[in-house]
This record gives sequence, C-alpha cells and structure tokens, in this order.
Amino acid sequence: MLKIAILVRKETADRCTGKGCLRSFFSKTESFSRYRNIEIELIGFFHSGGDLDYKLAKMKEAGVQVIHVSTCMRAKHEGYEKLVKKIGKNFDVIGYTHGSRDGKTRATESVTGKCRVL
Ligand code: SF4
Repeated sequence: MLKIAILVRKETADRCTGKGCLRSFFSKTESFSRYRNIEIELIGFFHSGGDLDYKLAKMKEAGVQVIHVSTCMRAKHEGYEKLVKKIGKNFDVIGYTHGSRDGKTRATESVTGKCRVL
C-alpha cells in the first residue's frame, strides 16, 4: 500500500473544499492515474500555512512516501519550485493533483525524489 499526502495552498483552502484533488485521488485520474494498478492510501490533506515543517515531519512519521503538491500550489504559490525541491529531500513529489499535467504557467510536471511508481 503506497501512502500519499496532498499539500494544498493555504489561501486557496480558505475557499476551496478540495473537491478536485479528492475526486482525482479517489478515481485515480489525472496526477493519480499513475497508481491505477496499485493500492494507495490518503494519509494527509493539509495546507501550506502554519508550521509546514512540523506537518511534513508528521507525514514522514506516518509513513507517507509520496506528496502531491496541488495544482493551485503550482499555479499560485510563490516559491513553488523551491518548496518542491525541499520536500523532495524527504519524499517523492508529484507537482500537481488535478487538471493538466503541464499546467498553464509551468511547462512540465515537477517530479523529484525516487518515486518507485513513476
Ligand atoms: S488543487 Fe484544486 S481542488 Fe485542490 S485545493 Fe487547489 S483549487 Fe482546490
């Protein structure tokens, strides 16, 4: 069972229910289509505000292997690339959740770490 967490943008989470992220996770579509043939478990769904290092440490403790950094993070979070690199030191990272793999503003999917299922 592959343990996954989703990191979303704090300012977006003030208004968003997370429906798009969760729909793609549970239907194994869009960024989650790579897991079609394996069992996955959603361990955390958390936003980028507050003590993010603490939250990431808790996810590590809980056995999370892959973090999907949400599509709204990719589109609007200042320092997205830096954050993805930082998270990639401890987790495999997929740089979006739902929508297009290429996104509107960034040319490629950001993937770091050594994700066994890519
Ligand atoms: S990626 Fe989409 S569904 Fe997920 S938190 Fe951001 S706006 Fe909401």
